[in-house]
Amino acid sequence: MMAMETITVKWIEERLDPYLRSTYKHLHQHPELSKEEVGTQRFIQQELDRIGIEHKAMADTGVCAQITGSAPGRTVLMRCDIDALPIEEDTGLDYSSLNPGVMHACGHDAHTTIGLAILTILKEHRSEWQGTVKIMFQPTEEAQPGGAKPMIEEGILENPAVDAALCLHTNPYLKPGVFEMKPGYMLANTDRVYVSLIGKGGHAAAPQQGIDAIAMAGQFVTGVQSIVSRQTSPLDHAVITFGTISGGTASNVLCGRVDLSGTVRTIRTETQEDIISKLEALLKSVTEFWGGTYEYTYSKGYPASWNDPALTAALTVSLTETFGEGTVAVNEHPYMSGDDFSVVAKEVPSVFMYWGTGSSDKENFPWHNAQYHVNLDALKHGAAAGLHCILELLQTGKAGQA
Ligand SMILES: [Zn+2]
Ligand SMILES: [Zn+2]
Repeated sequence: MMAMETITVKWIEERLDPYLRSTYKHLHQHPELSKEEVGTQRFIQQELDRIGIEHKAMADTGVCAQITGSAPGRTVLMRCDIDALPIEEDTGLDYSSLNPGVMHACGHDAHTTIGLAILTILKEHRSEWQGTVKIMFQPTEEAQPGGAKPMIEEGILENPAVDAALCLHTNPYLKPGVFEMKPGYMLANTDRVYVSLIGKGGHAAAPQQGIDAIAMAGQFVTGVQSIVSRQTSPLDHAVITFGTISGGTASNVLCGRVDLSGTVRTIRTETQEDIISKLEALLKSVTEFWGGTYEYTYSKGYPASWNDPALTAALTVSLTETFGEGTVAVNEHPYMSGDDFSVVAKEVPSVFMYWGTGSSDKENFPWHNAQYHVNLDALKHGAAAGLHCILELLQTGKAGQA
């Protein structure tokens, strides 16, 4: 097996730093929305042809790249998502998006870049490692129901069957060279909820003749605050946020209908189910009291992402041994954001980790912000750690095999 100690950040930098930077800049300048990643797909396919890697298109705009080393062995999959967001970039970078209103504001351009760089090294050193590596260039992470599911349905986890999977996601709050993960739940269930409270319009001066939907909505929204604060364990993780509310037409008209939309984030399935029923119970009791009715749509999104404890421990030890103390930060709590890598993690033992891409010389902005930026110096760290983890996962479990 390719010697772990050769994969230093400096070694990657000497071989690939110009490639990492130019590939990243190209992808960043040409972002495409979910399900529309046609140019990105073509770029990936052209790069794979140039490097000499077998590949096939999947889930319309995705690509699976596959390479086997000097001999068959375990199979490891790394997910790199490729889509961008409907955001007008405001970073002022000289390689800003050339596609108006569309921006790589979640770092998926960086994910794609390191996927290609890792394949370059795996190909050049093919005689030095055993097993099969698949890179899942996944479309449509940012728009549910997501691109991971169709790629799985089209067989990405089969032929050969994937033994372990990995995902590195950019994180602007960690510095380059630092990776963050925890065993168990790493990310949340990310659900959407739509609520309408239906009353009866009328004259604002004679409320008794109608049913005031704004008053009903006020009671509902206030009541919702007690679900997490008073009816969920303080040791559990849950968020309910209503992000939109609309209703009414004029100051002297009694409002007949209010619509709200929001998001619910949980970790445990029991808590998720509990919130689904409590929201409706509250809605039912409030509208019954007022004599109104309601509409309720709860849409389950990406499931919570589970990090296999044994693999997480193995990667933590191995990354620390190779790249030094402080390389791996352990987050005590899961993040309340989500990612459809969780769909892969439900099928095979997996690890989702954050990869530090923050800058120390300027302000770092959150994911999905128009000023989100990736520190280009972090690309070599992501490629080195990604490659290292792939090789580790190709070997993990080998000792136990006959
Ligand atoms: Zn995102
Ligand atoms: Zn993302």
